Parts: sequence; C-alpha cells; structure tokens
Amino acid sequence: MENLIGLDEEKLKSSFIELVRRTSSVLPDDVVAKIKEYQAKEKVGTRAASALDTIMENIKLAEDGSRPICQDTGTVIFDIYHPLGLRQSALETIIRSAVADATANHYLRPNVVDPLTGMSKFDNNGVGHPAIYLKQWDEDYLKVALVLKGGGCENVGTQYSLPNTGLKAGRDLDGIKKVCLDAVVKAQGRGCAPGVLGIGIGGDRAQGYTLSKKQLHRKLDDKNENPDLAELEEWLVEKANTLGIGPMGFGGGTTLLAVKAALMDRIPASYYVSVTYMCWAYRRRFMTVKNGNVEFD
Ligand code: SF4
Repeated sequence: MENLIGLDEEKLKSSFIELVRRTSSVLPDDVVAKIKEYQAKEKVGTRAASALDTIMENIKLAEDGSRPICQDTGTVIFDIYHPLGLRQSALETIIRSAVADATANHYLRPNVVDPLTGMSKFDNNGVGHPAIYLKQWDEDYLKVALVLKGGGCENVGTQYSLPNTGLKAGRDLDGIKKVCLDAVVKAQGRGCAPGVLGIGIGGDRAQGYTLSKKQLHRKLDDKNENPDLAELEEWLVEKANTLGIGPMGFGGGTTLLAVKAALMDRIPASYYVSVTYMCWAYRRRFMTVKNGNVEFD
C-alpha cells in the first residue's frame, strides 16, 4: 500500500479516523451556506426561523467541540476509488479498524445492531456495516467519499414505479416531478427537514437507489449538465418550498435546500424513480491520498 499511495497502514488508518471526525462534527461549507441562505429568508419570530437558528447553533457547537452534529451518527457509507494494485481486503481491514477507533473516540455513536436480536455491535463493525464500496480506477491516487446517513431521513426515502395511476404520473418528466413531490409531502418533517433529495431515474431497483445516493456527493450549488434534469432540480426545490412543511415540519418556506438528480438507462418493462432524502445534518466529506499527502474537503 505504501508503494502505491505513499502512506503506511497506521498513517492511513489515522487519516480515516480524522475523516470520520471531520464528517461527523463539521458540516461542509456549501451545506452551511445554503442553510444560512434560507435562514435569512424566514420571518423573524416564526417557529421556522427559530428551528433554523437552533440548527445553526447546533452546527457551531458540534464544530467547536469536535462532537457529533446529531445523536444519530447514521449509516457509515464509504465510496472509494483506488489505483490498480491496491489490495481491497487490506483497505477494508484498515477502514473497519478506523471505524472502531472513531467509535471509541465518540466521533460515532455505537449505532449498529443485529436486526433479529437487537444486540449492539458496539464498535459499528457488523455484517454489511460500515458500507464500503470499492472501485478501481486508472488514477494514481486514492479518493474516498464518506457520507454519514441519518436513519430518520433514510426512512422517508422511497421508490416509485411509473406509471403511478394514483398520482396520475406517467413515464415522463412530468410524472417524475409528481412522484418526487409526493415523496416530499409524505415525508413532512419526519426526515428532519430542511432536506436534500437525491434522485435516481431509471436502472433496476438496486441501481436506482445507488444512483440516488451517489447524488449526495454533489455540491449543493452545482448545476446539472442535463438541461431537463437542471429544470427538474430547480422546479422541485421551488415547489417543495411552497408546501409550508418547513424546518422539522414547523412550517415556513424552507422544506428543501436542494435537489440533485441523475439518470441511467432502463429496460422497457421498468421505470423506477428512486428518492433518497438527506436531512439538514448533511454529513459528507472527501479525502484524497497521493504520494503520502492527505487532503480533506
Ligand atoms: S434524520 Fe438526520 S437530523 Fe434527524 S435524527 Fe437522523 S441524523 Fe439527526
């Protein structure tokens, strides 16, 4: 590993621990900027304004004290791109050990339990957790994306199969808009709004959800290169913010901070629209390791 990316296993492990600490306690600048932008628009004295004030206070306290932003430190999801020749099993072992140490350091709550017995795994190392997706690429460096995905917002994520007769949603852009808006209406404040939607159009069920989750890697102020999807993203934010759901469901005009959509091809028999809902505690960070240098973003 050292020959490839210039870091020995101990240093790489401590970099992963630092990545978890930063992700758990410091929200990305683009997310904080977006929350501030909406905070400025809410009427002073309303419950929506006070909910956003509390959220901003929470963000500051977590950052100052290197403490988790939310008591639910979420599902720990790593997406990793690595150079040719790096042994995946060795990398997984390092990550699992880093997650155990990050839990012992209280950057993560011991969150993972057996689904049948409810017994805690204590160090967040369980079957399928942390979620680690490894992909080899042609670059000579390691790139890691980490998302800590809250459970409350995960519970309101959903998937639609078009056409949907109940919603009068056909297999077109208009149908996609209808089902995505339905997802926001059904979520109400339960996803800890204001949220961000990741939307995956097409694929099979598993691919659709994966695509929708990958959208969480995008910066909130980027612009979709596909003009139809750019229009869908803008329309949904605007429309959702007229629904009066607001921060934590307290009303007001801040229900969604952003929408990020992508598509993949499908087969004629299926047309899925997969919606991932990310709460305001939008914990996403990146790490790159090249020639022994570690950079966080
Ligand atoms: S949905 Fe997000 S903000 Fe709400 S409890 Fe879960 S992690 Fe925290």
